[in-house]
Amino acid sequence: MKKMAKLAAVLMAAAFTTNTLAADITLKLAHTWPKGFPLFATSVDEYAKLVNEMSDGKIEILVDSRNKHKAAFGIFDFVKSGQYDIGQSASYYYGGKEPDALFFTTMPFGMTAIEQTAWFYEGGGLELANEVYAKHGMEVMLALNTGQQMGGWFRKEINSVADLKGLKMRIPGFGGKVMAKVGAVPTNLPPGELYQALERGTIDALEWVGPSLDLRMGFHKVAPYYYTGWHEPGAELMFFFNKKKIDSLPAWAQSVLRNAAKLTGYKASTQTFHASLENWATIKAEYPNVKVKDFPKEVIQALKKANAELIAEEAKRGGLTQRIVESQAAYLKKARAWTQIGDQSYLNNIAK
Ligand code: CA
Repeated sequence: MKKMAKLAAVLMAAAFTTNTLAADITLKLAHTWPKGFPLFATSVDEYAKLVNEMSDGKIEILVDSRNKHKAAFGIFDFVKSGQYDIGQSASYYYGGKEPDALFFTTMPFGMTAIEQTAWFYEGGGLELANEVYAKHGMEVMLALNTGQQMGGWFRKEINSVADLKGLKMRIPGFGGKVMAKVGAVPTNLPPGELYQALERGTIDALEWVGPSLDLRMGFHKVAPYYYTGWHEPGAELMFFFNKKKIDSLPAWAQSVLRNAAKLTGYKASTQTFHASLENWATIKAEYPNVKVKDFPKEVIQALKKANAELIAEEAKRGGLTQRIVESQAAYLKKARAWTQIGDQSYLNNIAK
């Protein structure tokens, strides 16, 4: 019996060794979100699984959440330095490291999700993003589009531009810059800190995503006014690849990593749309105290003016920045003409 047990132990050790060596390529990935965070983090877990499956077990991706690496907004540096091979986060969190990173998540008064996805894939957007990220030794791909985001949760009603003066709001990216220009005090906080900040009054308002992810955060318990959107009409998360690392891999592995990212981006965007409609139905049915509001015309016009001025200022940097601004403006104009005669006319027609 003793001999048998010894043999079994040897066999098990051998199996374990074989198993850990099964992957030819092991890559490390870090994302911004808490472990298991719906959609934003779970889609990354699905990506790792898909890559493993598509590569017949030859590529293994080890996923670290912010619970492990402790730096929600450290993804840019992690991947740039090669500490991690892959990242997943939002480009606009890194405007302080690379000003042009602000353009590749979503823009206030800009393209809707489908318009922007078309810009990225067919209108030269991804090439422009990769020109920017190549300067930092990275390559990016689309990871998940949230679709239309809500304008945020406010403790008090907003009736005029004066109500925005001094308002402390969590709002990242270009939307935050616009808010600052009309007198608000924008800040960025990672998702894990949002509820407490709003509850304690450290901030007066926040935007997070929309029904897909807001409901579980409980914001409706402390801020009853839920405003419709203007600042993030289609926010895109991205995969960041360390360029040197991905280019060093065999062609088949590069193809798996890139194509699995594409599939994940598509699936995760669909899942997010689905979560939005389900949760919106829940809000309507179960939370009658949530007051859904549009910002007054005066406020929207002030925000629009501030946005246009800020974009014009950015474009003055010339070169690549100017090319990005011009590319987005031209694509938006053309895409919107079709959206208006297509989707918008359809919705108008059937509402008659
Ligand atoms: Ca947001």
